[in-house]
This record gives sequence, structure tokens and C-alpha cells, in this order.
Amino acid sequence: MPDPTQQPETSGHRTPPSAGPASPGGASADEARARPDGARRDLATLPKAHLHLHFTGSMRQSTLAELAESHGIRLPGALLDLDPLRVPANERGWFRFQRLYDAARACVRTESDMRRIIREAAEDDASEGSGRLEIQVDPTSYAPFVGGITPALEIVLDEARSASATTGVEVGVIVASSRMRHPLDARILARLAALHAGDGAGEVIGFGLSNDERRGDTSAFAPAFRIARKAGLASVPHGGELLGPGHVTEVLDALQPDRLGHGVRAGEDARVLDRIVAQDVSLEVCPASNVSLGVYADDAQVPLRTLVDAGARVALGADDPLLFRSRLVAQYESARDVHGFSDLELADLARSSIRASLAAESTQRGLLAQVDRWVEGPAEQSRA
Ligand SMILES: [Zn+2]
Repeated sequence: MPDPTQQPETSGHRTPPSAGPASPGGASADEARARPDGARRDLATLPKAHLHLHFTGSMRQSTLAELAESHGIRLPGALLDLDPLRVPANERGWFRFQRLYDAARACVRTESDMRRIIREAAEDDASEGSGRLEIQVDPTSYAPFVGGITPALEIVLDEARSASATTGVEVGVIVASSRMRHPLDARILARLAALHAGDGAGEVIGFGLSNDERRGDTSAFAPAFRIARKAGLASVPHGGELLGPGHVTEVLDALQPDRLGHGVRAGEDARVLDRIVAQDVSLEVCPASNVSLGVYADDAQVPLRTLVDAGARVALGADDPLLFRSRLVAQYESARDVHGFSDLELADLARSSIRASLAAESTQRGLLAQVDRWVEGPAEQSRA
């Protein structure tokens, strides 16, 4: 696997000094001259942080097929074909998504299955230029197979540490509670997560809330988030995906998020978006997921420009590539090909993802420096 810490440095084609230095903040006039419109650097080597990826949903299709076979489980055809899931953004659509997700999760039955998922997620992130992965897991789902939520989380954290060492991608873990469970279950998870709080590889870095945004009472989960916050964990719930700006406001009020999973629907109300920017809440935007789950009809409808232009800190993520058939680099390709982001704007998106991460200051500095080198580096492989 490529080591993302080394990728941008290897070039013998650095920008000549006369072309002007790279500006970490964005496009300088010199740079614009040095890199005419249409310069297309390799997005797989753009150093970035991946902040929205679910444990089961991160799985490679081939891995799922192997796990199913080894456990004698027959998978629904939709999990084996190559088409991305496409469902309407209603209860029936979510139900179909959830049923497929559950079928995939049912194939994860041993410690070694769990370790494989983390290891491969880190390997895939490494091959896509990610230097920091923050992966979400609800250990409750895997607890029955490994003797409880405590060992389930320990396995994930232990493998996150090993995978970080072998791939060069620093893997932090977000413990995510589910809206479908009792809020008291969320408190139990928050207390467990708190025991492993940190910011580095194999540590719990944040506490989340996932599943159908239309279900459960958001404010009922506030006590769990308070437990997590007291332990130093960031608040990273989903919100503003299936429900609009009204629910984003509810999440902001009840859970004081540092980041919102999705949050894209905030784009529908300038006041809510202004509040997100003012409160420094980052948005984990997952275009392929939004289209697969019917939130938007196609990539062009995802309000990426609106969010970025409003000053929101955006981190692109893949969410559940197993079902959406679209990994991290594809989200940056969508920004480039559908939303017209130039290389310098794409570099700024990557910087945003790094700054929105919960990585230590030193890790962030290192990755940001690599982005600068990517900007200075060659773009000869293709031109529009
Ligand atoms: Zn998600």
C-alpha cells in the first residue's frame, strides 16, 4: 500500500521557483498562472482526512462475499451486483437501505472478521491519499459474537492501532449510538467510549448518533453526549441529511456538535448555515450517499458550492461505500467534475477535511504540509 506520508514528495517535477510558491490559504495569482485552468493533479495522492465512514459500510464487496461464504450466509442479490443502491428518501427507501446494511452486518461474526474490516478500511484509505481515518462503529451490533460491547470495542481499537502502524493512515474511532435504540443504551456506550478517549491511533475520538434521522427524540440523547463531552470526546452526530434545517437547529441545540454527519440540508436556510459557520461546526459531506439515499436527485444537486461559499468547513466522506459503490476519491472527483472545483479549490477541500479532523495539532500540520506539496507538484498526467 502506498504510504501517504511519502506520496507528494517523490516528484522530480516541482514547480520552478519563478512560478511562485504555493499558498496554503488558496490560489495566488502566481499559482493561477503556473497552473492554468484544467490542470488536473492525481486526486488519489491529494493528502486528506476521511471523517465519515461506517464500519460495516466500509467493507469491500469482495470481502463481504467471502465472509458470507465462510459463514454459510446467503446474501441478497443487491449486495453482490455492481450497481450503487438507489432508493427514494422516504421511510420505505430507508427500510430497504437498512435491510441491506443489516444483511451485510450479519456476515461479521468473529474477531478476525472485525479486524479484517478495520485493516482493509485503512488500506483502502491509504490508497486514496487519506492520512487520517475516523471510522464510526456501534459495538453493540458485534457484541453478541465476541462476548460483549467491551471486547467488541477493544478489538476495533486494537486493530485500528495495528492498521495505523502498517498503512501509515492514522485511524481514530468514533463510537456511534443509534437512534433506533433506547437513549439509556447510548449512555452506556458513552461511558464505554469515555474509557478510551484520546486523539490518536486506536483511541476513541468522538461520540456519534446514527440511523434514520426521523426516528427517536434527538434531545433524549443529550445526556449521553454530555457524558462523552466530559471525557473530552467530540460530538459528531448525524443531522441535516433526511431532515431539513429545522432538525439541524434541533441537533445544534441539543447535542452541541463539533461536526455534523452530512448537514447538507442546512444549505436550505441561510440563517442555519450562518449559525453553523459562526459556531465552527464542520460538515461531513457525502455526495454519493446523498444521491444513493435519494436526498438529492443527482450529484449536481448536492449543495457543495453553497456550503463552501458560505464559509462552512467541509470534509468529503464516503459514508457506506459497500452500498453506494463509491469511495473517498470519487467524492473529490465529483467536486471536480460536477461542481467545477479547480485543483487549488480541491486542495482547500482537503485542507478543510484535515482541519475538521480530531487529529492532534502535529498530525494536522504534517498533513497540511503534504497538501502544499501536492499543489506544488506535477499535474502532467492529464489536462482537461
Ligand atoms: Zn453516516
